[in-house]
Order: sequence, then structure tokens, then C-alpha cells
Amino acid sequence: MAKIINIHTGDKTDRDDIPVFECSICNCKFSEGEGGLQHGAIGMIPVSFCPTCFSGIFDMVDYFKGSYGEEEEE
Ligand SMILES: [Zn+2]
Repeated sequence: MAKIINIHTGDKTDRDDIPVFECSICNCKFSEGEGGLQHGAIGMIPVSFCPTCFSGIFDMVDYFKGSYGEEEEE
């Protein structure tokens, strides 16, 4: 469920028709507007990643990739 607040009137409404996705890592719910990965796959396994976990995956990949291609000159 998503809560929508009209910034002009301050009216609050709850919407059930906005699709939400469940993160495969932390199980939090997130909507399309928040970013992240809504529908993906690792091999045959369907996955969804919230913005925080999606960002964390990129950081982890950068860490494990190391600094290939950035060799220091002697
Ligand atoms: Zn997550």
C-alpha cells in the first residue's frame, strides 16, 4: 500500500493499485518510483532488489573487481 499526500491540500489517501515489489535480500517493499530493480533474473532465479540493496550490489562488484585497467605506470 502506498500513501499519497496532496502537497497543495494536505489530503492523504491510501492507494492499493500502485505495484510494490519485495526485495529478494532484505524483504522490504518498494515501488517503481523508488528505483532499484523491479524484475530481474540471476540465471533462472527471479529477483527484485530495493534501491539500497541494488546500490550495495554495485559496491560489492566494484570491490571484488579490483582496479583492472587502472595499472600504475612505473
Ligand atoms: Zn533490499
